[in-house]
Amino acid sequence: MPKFFITTLGCKVNQYESEVIAEELKSEGWVPAGPGETADICIIHTCTVTQKASMQSRQVIRQAIRANPDAEIIVSGCYARTEPDEIRKMEGIHQIIGHNDKLQTSNFKSHVSRFTFHVSDSRTRPFLKIQDGCNAFCTYCIVPYARGRSRSMPPADVLENIRRLKQAGRHEVVLTGIHLGCYGLDLSPSTSLTELLTRICEENPMDRVRLSSVEPHELTDTIITLTAQSDHLCHHFHIPLQSGDDGILRRMHRPYTQAFFRDLVTKIHQQLPDVAIGADILVGFPGESERAFENTYSLVRDLPISYLHVFPFSPHKGTPASTYPDKVPSKRIKERSQQMRALGNAKKSEFYRRFVGKTMAVLVEGKRERKTGLLKGTTSNYIPVLVSGQDELKNRLVNISVEEVRDNLVFGVPS
Ligand code: SF4
Repeated sequence: MPKFFITTLGCKVNQYESEVIAEELKSEGWVPAGPGETADICIIHTCTVTQKASMQSRQVIRQAIRANPDAEIIVSGCYARTEPDEIRKMEGIHQIIGHNDKLQTSNFKSHVSRFTFHVSDSRTRPFLKIQDGCNAFCTYCIVPYARGRSRSMPPADVLENIRRLKQAGRHEVVLTGIHLGCYGLDLSPSTSLTELLTRICEENPMDRVRLSSVEPHELTDTIITLTAQSDHLCHHFHIPLQSGDDGILRRMHRPYTQAFFRDLVTKIHQQLPDVAIGADILVGFPGESERAFENTYSLVRDLPISYLHVFPFSPHKGTPASTYPDKVPSKRIKERSQQMRALGNAKKSEFYRRFVGKTMAVLVEGKRERKTGLLKGTTSNYIPVLVSGQDELKNRLVNISVEEVRDNLVFGVPS
């Protein structure tokens, strides 16, 4: 049987698209190449969110060519779309595909555009991509150039896909998108994320529905209230803050202020005291003075934020920010990133410890954690729990008593 190999860099959307391509290949009779085996086709799903990601994409392409000398090599993803000429310079590549091109090999024909809105259902908590592209053009971000304008899956299809996942035995779905808060604005008649979630709550097609990242100004009062009132929308918001300094936010072309973010988080926490609130922070943007960094640091420190994703700034060719003066020295960017990550770890630990002694519904995954051999699961408010228990708990929602937190790992037993 012909063998394929897919390697993926970058974000959840890329991971999800790779899973979908893998499912599609399997349904056509292909099998994944095992360890040590060479593949007949090799797909490298690249990322270009930073210069480092572009460099890693090139490295991974070279490794794949070396390890699979006879394979048909296909490069897809954001780096393929934004820098096809760079990739063409590399020897041994058979096809470069953008997001809307056809994926076509000598043995396999399909349309990548078909993958664009599809379901990846091999996970316990599958992703459903309901939106792609972005019109926002934040000054540091290559994504609008790489993925094009915002497009959405019609609400009826979203509901249908969720039902399908439920019928396939899933208990949770993660709604993903590049700019989820823009959901529905491109459709005719236009709709919104708020309307979609209202409909999901009315029709109740799944035990748990989780949102991936939503921009601060797009997290509406209705979404917050619906989440507080619903047993099905996860008590979890991931909000890309990026900076807590108003001057830097303006330079980033981010349409909110520090005060707006503070009010938003306070409001969410008042309605949902057990909520997990995650934030993305971009450290070392050009012009980020000590004072500006301190503004971000103290904002995060003082708010009920549960975890951070910290990204050190690296200029991306083709974006306005790559030409901005007053660059922050890379040593300082590194130090600030470490400081911010340490704060994130402390906030996470504090958040986890609040739940010791409580009983929480945990969705247990199909695989055990490698090091401890314990079952892995996730609560509605995004706490990863390691559970002692038998395999029969797998892929089930189980009540777990949280016993202790050690090294930021949470341990529990069925209650
Ligand atoms: S909202 Fe800004 S950061 Fe997010 S994808 Fe769009 S341009 Fe990039």
